[in-house]
Amino acid sequence: MKKSHLKQKLSKVKDFKSPRVELEQYKTPPDLAADLSFSCHMQGHEKIVDLGTGTGILAIGAAFLGLDVTAVEIDRKALKTARENAESFDVDIDFVEADVTGFQGDFDAVIMNPPFNVQSDEGLKFWEKALEIGDNVYGVAGKGFRPRLKSLCEEYNHEIVACEAYTIGLPASYDFHTEASKETPVDVYVTQRKE
Ligand code: SAH
Repeated sequence: MKKSHLKQKLSKVKDFKSPRVELEQYKTPPDLAADLSFSCHMQGHEKIVDLGTGTGILAIGAAFLGLDVTAVEIDRKALKTARENAESFDVDIDFVEADVTGFQGDFDAVIMNPPFNVQSDEGLKFWEKALEIGDNVYGVAGKGFRPRLKSLCEEYNHEIVACEAYTIGLPASYDFHTEASKETPVDVYVTQRKE
């Protein structure tokens, strides 16, 4: 499947019904979701996990490409939306209702668009878990995260192998902003476990 086709398919993934701001619930834009899952596929990763799957868009992208996908989400309502999305896309995903902190496993790769709130450790625990259970991590982060990620990588024996800048439209509610949506610059990092 071509990436442009995947992107077009993913644009049909349904959004959160009633997004919870405290969990930083917002749907990853289809082009970014397609890029992340396509990169995983191109690198030959087979067994992957999506941490904080939300609407399921990243997991669905990867499952479309034939990967073996597990998806973890703490919020039951979001998980219901993800399940419905997966069903309407006719893909098979192993959904797990759990806090990522307690989740265990061993994966070729982690894909995730976690909460950015690294101050409150909410985002940090995603990165710690991802670096622990994944040989490769594809994750979205807010600007300025690199120094923090570098030291986490040292701790978990990973290295940053790529970083690409994107701009995503976050709902105003996430930024105490008055416009309907705010274009927010983010970085997508790829890390790899060192030999
Ligand atoms: N990638 C998804 C959602 C991104 S928003 C999409 O594009 O639709 C981040 C998601 O992480 C939300 O769905 C939120 O409910 C979930 N989340 C937040 N804290 C969590 C935790 N501790 N454990 C598992 N999921 C969590």
